[in-house]
Amino acid sequence: MTFTYPLFDTPLIGIYFIVLAFMFGAILASFITCTAWRVVRGEDWKLGHSHCDTCGHELSTADLFPIVSYIALKGKCRYCGSKVPPRDLIFEILLGLLFAGTLALHGSIDAAVVAALALEMLLLGLSLADWDSGVIPDGFLAAILVVWILTAGFRTDVQKFAIEGVIVFLCTGILMAIGTFIAGSIKKAKLSYGPAKLSMCLMLFLGFRGAVIAAVAGILLGIFFTLVCKSKKRKISLAPAISLAFIFAFLLKDALVLLGARIPF
Ligand SMILES: [Zn+2]
Repeated sequence: MTFTYPLFDTPLIGIYFIVLAFMFGAILASFITCTAWRVVRGEDWKLGHSHCDTCGHELSTADLFPIVSYIALKGKCRYCGSKVPPRDLIFEILLGLLFAGTLALHGSIDAAVVAALALEMLLLGLSLADWDSGVIPDGFLAAILVVWILTAGFRTDVQKFAIEGVIVFLCTGILMAIGTFIAGSIKKAKLSYGPAKLSMCLMLFLGFRGAVIAAVAGILLGIFFTLVCKSKKRKISLAPAISLAFIFAFLLKDALVLLGARIPF
């Protein structure tokens, strides 16, 4: 099932959808950063209005417009005037740009791009949760599997997608579990299997070639993030590295297709 819109044939329609994707990304970023924050603090992520972290005042709808509210209120709480960290604003702009870029590269609205946007949102949430708490919450991984189940059936290449995905899923699981076990034995510490589980879930969405690209990018980014965490003397968080590697592999595939390269992975 594909809804193809003439992104490159009719620039105005293309721009309309890309702007819409940016706004959608910004709105979902404020939702997911709030969710991640609540999960990390053990609060119920579903219920309750957002509130100011300093004064506890409940935020009104007018305070919750992504990007616009932050700029209008000059980065301060409307009620107590305390400074709101720019982190949320940065992630709203980031996810907005990522959504817009993903749609622009993909050029049509189908199951693959819907899955990509949903994953980008979930990856932002679980990366923030991992960075703040050192744990990748299982709830986010379950949500990734739900995205796979809901979107796989709508793909035109469902059979190839499912078979390759499951093979890569199993291989990644075995390799990463062995790697985690060996690294844990050398360090004489019990390492989390969170990064292994996350990699497995994401590999479901990539074919063989995409998986190789994601694995290489993941190893390089993993080393980079390990060095950054060590230099900051903080617990090593690998979720951001794994997330970026996956998004890179996904976008590269679309970029190559766009450029006319015959790499149908
Ligand atoms: Zn306040």
